[in-house]
Amino acid sequence: MSTVTRDVFGTTATGQDVAVFTLSNDNGVVVRLLEIGAIVASVRVPDRLGEFADVALGFDTLAEYEVNPAYFGCATGRVANRIANGRFEIDGEAFQLAINTPPNHIHGGEGGFHRAFWRGEAETVPEGVAARFRYTSADGEDDYPGQLSCEILYTLTRANGLRINYVAHTDRPTPINLTNHSYFNLAAHDGGSVLDHVIRIKARRYTERDATGIPTGEILPVEHTPLDLQTSCVVGARIDELKDSGGYDHNYVIDRWDGETCRMIAEVIEPRRGRRMEVHTTQPGVQFYTGNFLSGLEGKAGAVYNRHAGLCLETQHFPDSVNHPSFPSTILRPGESWQQTTEYRFSTL
Ligand code: BGC
Repeated sequence: MSTVTRDVFGTTATGQDVAVFTLSNDNGVVVRLLEIGAIVASVRVPDRLGEFADVALGFDTLAEYEVNPAYFGCATGRVANRIANGRFEIDGEAFQLAINTPPNHIHGGEGGFHRAFWRGEAETVPEGVAARFRYTSADGEDDYPGQLSCEILYTLTRANGLRINYVAHTDRPTPINLTNHSYFNLAAHDGGSVLDHVIRIKARRYTERDATGIPTGEILPVEHTPLDLQTSCVVGARIDELKDSGGYDHNYVIDRWDGETCRMIAEVIEPRRGRRMEVHTTQPGVQFYTGNFLSGLEGKAGAVYNRHAGLCLETQHFPDSVNHPSFPSTILRPGESWQQTTEYRFSTL
């Protein structure tokens, strides 16, 4: 039977109770979601022998999630990824955001949606069980313009998918780029490195980046580079060639994007245990990040997460889109509805 339950996960430093929602389906898959950061705290899925493991990196306690330096599992916003020098203009008005990854702005700034309180509610939907999270970001919060109301619906489907539906509205023009920042290791969250995972990304092109992770504006073919993951490749096969970024940390331009269709854009396989994860999305880009900056971070059940302990497939609009008029727009205006869907679908082979 599919169930969704709600419990208290912890109490914040400021005295706010934070709930955890536990979603389970008939196949024994269990997903845990937190009201802080709308965080995906764990994803328990079977391997080919039916053995379950938690494949999402994370922490045991709320106090750790209140810091969450690597953005484990969270909703990332108001604008995920980087904005060059934290600067942008909308309709001739200039804005300056925090420079929290010098010389750029990243993942919404010093506050950020990943540490915000997202009020949650359990729901049953036709495809399975769900939890809906709501957060209203005030006009001027983290120096972004406009009051932005956001809703994220996480559904655990009967087909072992973790589907994420986003909806947002604003009362002033604002940039928006929400994503989920889950780090997966399909061997187990404490399974060591993901360099032996096999990945495929359906992207012929990527946005060229400078040394600080900002797009140069060029959209280049992946062919003849370590970024070519169009046919299945071992993650570690050519990662050493990506010295400047310490591994994969690149935005792929998804093939055949039309702004509406939720299509399969990537697949990851852990060959020893046979867990497989497909990524489906309506978004035009995906940041493939191999946890290059993880180093001695203590996580769940005494695990220590080091470099390449997990990988992220952050479906999103391209980095620094606000400063690149040729990229798909990230500007949301009053009266418009911002909607995206991403699904991480688990199976075995
Ligand atoms: C970025 C990385 C960054 C990581 C944690 C990813 O989305 O692409 O450069 O280190 O998030 O902030």
